[in-house]
Amino acid sequence: MKFSSIPVHGVSSTEELHKESEGAHVPPIYQTSTFLFEDVAQGGRAFSEPDHAGSHIYTRISNPNNNALEKAITALECYDLKADDYTSMVFGTGMAAISSSLMALAKKGRVLAQDALYGCSSQLLFEQAPEWGIEATFLDFTDLDSFEEALTSYDDIKVVYMESITNPTMRVASLDKIVELSHRHGALVIVDNTFASSMYCRPLNFGADVVIHSSTKYIGGHGTSLGGVLTCSKALADEHKLGLYRKNLGGIAGPMDSWLLFNGLKTFALRVPKQTSNALKIAHYLEQHPKISKVWYPMLESHPDYNIAQKILDGGAASVMSFELKEGFKAGTQLMNRVKLCSLAVSLGSVDTLIQHPASMTHSVMDADLRRKAGIEDGLVRLAVGIEDVDDIISDLERALN
Ligand code: PLP
Repeated sequence: MKFSSIPVHGVSSTEELHKESEGAHVPPIYQTSTFLFEDVAQGGRAFSEPDHAGSHIYTRISNPNNNALEKAITALECYDLKADDYTSMVFGTGMAAISSSLMALAKKGRVLAQDALYGCSSQLLFEQAPEWGIEATFLDFTDLDSFEEALTSYDDIKVVYMESITNPTMRVASLDKIVELSHRHGALVIVDNTFASSMYCRPLNFGADVVIHSSTKYIGGHGTSLGGVLTCSKALADEHKLGLYRKNLGGIAGPMDSWLLFNGLKTFALRVPKQTSNALKIAHYLEQHPKISKVWYPMLESHPDYNIAQKILDGGAASVMSFELKEGFKAGTQLMNRVKLCSLAVSLGSVDTLIQHPASMTHSVMDADLRRKAGIEDGLVRLAVGIEDVDDIISDLERALN
């Protein structure tokens, strides 16, 4: 099957959903906490045999809707690999996938983490992880010399943790070199691939060990549900008992959310390229606007990682960008209050265009100097482009900017 057919058909993942669905075209939601056993013998096999003898026991362990989404995501993320050797696990949120995988893979060790991570991932590593005995060291991963130096100077690094595209300046590090250096020093690499999506980056192809998505974003695409997913080799999942971590920490997704995400995923290969072509046009438009000093989008030649992005991102950088208004904070708040088509909201990957001004919204409680040091200037605006007609998005921005 070609890549763009996989989200529609989920490979064989709908088979299980259709098993007893009275012929429903769209498979039902198995909205149940527990499952019936045929008899004691079958109940016994479900508990004692590998893979629960093909049956379900309890939704915190498995559920047909979760399994279908997992199979579809494995097929996408491992499109260029032998997918049978890999597995995916769905979680209730992206953060549940991130925290569970870090607990399992980095226990009693150190995480070498990219300095500009998603805020909650950063806070988790900075504040909570040390309480569980996991230390974190933050570094700019685009500086490979310092990266290698850190790998050499700490002997307890278990995990290197990064994002394929970081927020808000959309930095792209050399994933291939990071993986090579990390493996040479015995560290596993976890990549949060949310911003690039599996349309444009499949980190397992570069040798990464675990890929994570907040499926809340491009996978679902409609902003209706939260979800997280991780994909890795079956061998790694077994070695680090990832299934047990999910079962006992309890971070699994609910069937309704997986059903929504599975349906949202069907249009993934239409939505994401449309969002991406819109984003590129908007980035070029914003770049020449007299009120804007800088646009951060990796497919612009002016972006510091343009050349690396050409190698790591195959055909696009998805649809999130940031831009800086010359007139700073006040201009940012005015723009937010004047856009009409763009929705004033955080998040990304939705069919509608979302806009936000970090200095007055998401990062307003942060010390202003620290905020600027993190690349969040007072006039920085983040735009997560949707599937609307690009001319309408540009007109909305043009009018609000004027
Ligand atoms: N990773 C990235 C890059 C994100 O942007 C987010 C949320 O915005 C997350 C992880 C966390 O995902 P969730 O909100 O589904 O927990």
